[in-house]
Amino acid sequence: MSSPSSPRSPEDELTQSEAERYDRQLRIAGFGRGSQLKLKRAKVAVVGAGGLGSAVLLYLAAAGVGRIKVVDDGVVELSNLNRQILYTTEDIGRPKPEAASRRLRELNPEIEIEPLQEKLTDENAEDLLKDVDLAIDCLDNFETRFILNRACVSNSKPLVHGAVYGLEGRLMTIIPRRSPCLACLIPRKPKEAAVVPVLGSLAGLVGALEALEAVKLLAGLGSSTAGRLLVIDGYDLSFYWIDVRRDPSCPICGEKWWIEER
Ligand SMILES: [Zn+2]
Repeated sequence: MSSPSSPRSPEDELTQSEAERYDRQLRIAGFGRGSQLKLKRAKVAVVGAGGLGSAVLLYLAAAGVGRIKVVDDGVVELSNLNRQILYTTEDIGRPKPEAASRRLRELNPEIEIEPLQEKLTDENAEDLLKDVDLAIDCLDNFETRFILNRACVSNSKPLVHGAVYGLEGRLMTIIPRRSPCLACLIPRKPKEAAVVPVLGSLAGLVGALEALEAVKLLAGLGSSTAGRLLVIDGYDLSFYWIDVRRDPSCPICGEKWWIEER
């Protein structure tokens, strides 16, 4: 929400301060005022405000994405601070969406931040996603990821999936009904560690790539990672791609499911 002292400017034009703030990206080939206005009118849900979410939120706010929902039910803990660069030691004990909003408004008062102190569930997912253009997976567990994937497919919302474990990172964009979903890629919930090991810079790298994917999707630039899983091996800094196909019998996005639904 904008503060009363900074009323939101019209969505079909850039103010002088916005044009100056975004000057360096307005100079990118293929990215002009039209792209910036698309970002200004966009609304995204960032689900998870941890290591991935910190980078995603900072870069989306800096880029001028007009409305950002921050969805997380956690509070800032000391052990978060090796990777969750949105927060400071002073934020320990504060709800993450609230602390994130404060930091993001300081970074860019031209945009609206909607802090939502809740965990994504089957019950609230549709409501959380109904008014957004896309969602970004910044979660740390597959149980909630599958809920997000299912909700995005059934509500036709593009989803940018990112994950980190130790020094490995993953990225794939999901365009519902057009590209493989998370359940096509990972049919069964994998066994997970109770506490996920993460190096902050690796989470930041994957989060920055998720933010890049989101900006491209919103502005209509380049091509996405739909149908291609990017795997990053931080030990030797190798990046490789795995082609992923839609599973016709996928219980979430498979053709059989759609036929039954119709
Ligand atoms: Zn699927």
